[in-house]
Amino acid sequence: MDTAEVKQKAKEFGADLLGIASPERFASVKPQRSPLAVFPDMKSALVVGRRILRGAMRGVEEGTNFHSTYSTFGYRWLEDNFLARTTYDLTCWLETQGFEAVPLFGYCEDGMPTGVPVAPGKPEPNVIVDMDYAAHAAGLGEIGLGGFFLTPEYGTRQRFALILTDAKLDADPIRDKSICSDCGACVAACPLQAIDASHLETVGVPGHQIQVAHIDYEICNSCPNGAMKGPGRGTRPDRCAAACGRMCLTKLEGAGKCGNTFAQTFRKRTPWALDSLKRPVPVAGIEAGCDQKYAK
Ligand code: SF4
Ligand code: SF4
Repeated sequence: MDTAEVKQKAKEFGADLLGIASPERFASVKPQRSPLAVFPDMKSALVVGRRILRGAMRGVEEGTNFHSTYSTFGYRWLEDNFLARTTYDLTCWLETQGFEAVPLFGYCEDGMPTGVPVAPGKPEPNVIVDMDYAAHAAGLGEIGLGGFFLTPEYGTRQRFALILTDAKLDADPIRDKSICSDCGACVAACPLQAIDASHLETVGVPGHQIQVAHIDYEICNSCPNGAMKGPGRGTRPDRCAAACGRMCLTKLEGAGKCGNTFAQTFRKRTPWALDSLKRPVPVAGIEAGCDQKYAK
């Protein structure tokens, strides 16, 4: 079994993306977020991605259907059924080749329950790996100013799961920032001013770190502009189909930054926006996006 064979199998099982990280890339990650705390003998971390259909976001973009389109096909079913199946099939195949393989979902730690350490020196269960960090470590893309994971294939549109294995595979090169242009359109598109580009945070793999804006997820939690939460996934909402995420996708596609191209543009009409009390708000600034360069 070699790396090319693993990637081919992942594709056959339905993966749109597969990146591989070596254990050394997690050396500086605290145990509470590290895959090495889950599988200390891992030799490779495989980040499996499936695209979010652009059409699954259409109902949110039009403001007419949030749940039977995006919330199911773009979010919960995509993670719980389609991506889970791809991850499980690849994990089974790896174990058939004689290598232990640990499947992990890409949940965020915010609001997730924690237990007590089972022995001195061990982190509290459940260790939840930062999937954006893992995807960056696996060479799949970068984290944009607005906090979205961006790939050259789909921009903002993908979901990830993780497989830790004791098979030693070739790691993919880490990508430096090349997709996000710091255009600030995501900042301008947020009607609730939850993205603060005057306060930057440093994320990503050491040596390749990226600055991203501080995001007030407390505000996002009550955002009526397409942010969503799923059962069992903690308190941080999904923002891919929210006003900020859809604006980023519009900008990236317009700039030719997405390999998955379409005959027509994603944004066809003036975007809608609601304030925290679900009252329509003016969209002049949102529609224009923002050309100001935000990152220092
Ligand atoms: S909208 Fe612009 S600044 Fe925001 S994440 Fe996307 S490319 Fe980066
Ligand atoms: S989810 Fe809503 S509140 Fe949060 S940044 Fe996006 S548009 Fe703003």
